[in-house]
Amino acid sequence: MARQPLIAGNWKMNLNHLEAIALVQKIAFSLPEKYFAKVEVAVIPPFTDIRSVQTLIDGDKLLLKHGAQDVSEHESGAYTGEVSGPMLAKLGCSYVVVGHSERREHHAETDEVVNRKVRAVLKHGMSPILCVGEPLEVREAGGHVEHSTTQLINALKGLKTEQIRQVVVAYEPVWAIGTGKVATAADAQEVCAALRTALADKYGKEIADEVRVLYGGSVKSSNIGELIGQNDVDGALVGGASLNGDEFTKLSAMAA
Ligand code: PEP
Repeated sequence: MARQPLIAGNWKMNLNHLEAIALVQKIAFSLPEKYFAKVEVAVIPPFTDIRSVQTLIDGDKLLLKHGAQDVSEHESGAYTGEVSGPMLAKLGCSYVVVGHSERREHHAETDEVVNRKVRAVLKHGMSPILCVGEPLEVREAGGHVEHSTTQLINALKGLKTEQIRQVVVAYEPVWAIGTGKVATAADAQEVCAALRTALADKYGKEIADEVRVLYGGSVKSSNIGELIGQNDVDGALVGGASLNGDEFTKLSAMAA
């Protein structure tokens, strides 16, 4: 089954809501309407920008999607500073990034926490962009496939088979994030294919063939072509390059 590529721009902790509006306008108006039939493009701004982005997308009937960079594992209550699944669903989010290596590293998120967050996202009708990937020392020791597939299977524990269809997986080798060191297309394909095989073993080939597996780590217009040309790479999670409207538009156009 043909999977529609997804290019998602993770803005991380950058851009205020006014800068967000300018960037969304730039992206949306630079890509021709027919393009969006081929490739899905999503912006993932900080929480403080989401309402402005939603208003712009809805008001101008833009074909861009939007999402959030994290979610609370809790529904509501005394969790100061947290943002819940129902709040993000109300803001029209299609996607929520879960398990990004920066959250695993700086906020001590374990596979168990990631699993609860994946459930929180799915419960409210959104799709998690579930990030997995190995640190440099694991890659150097040859454990990258096992590390990434174990993170994947742990994050999906207890989900119903039907729910797996809604999940987007992002293979993000930690050593390639924000470093300018992109994995080779063959490296990306090796792990993305292994992730799909792990899904097929557990949930069946039909479902595994539907799930989109993205690559993330220093993606730019100069390398997206080769990456997306791989059989099991269905798009990209883009950090740094997503903050530059011209570059993000260029790389998105190349995914069509
Ligand atoms: C990311 O943060 O998910 C990412 C892939 O960042 P960068 O593209 O800057 O490496």
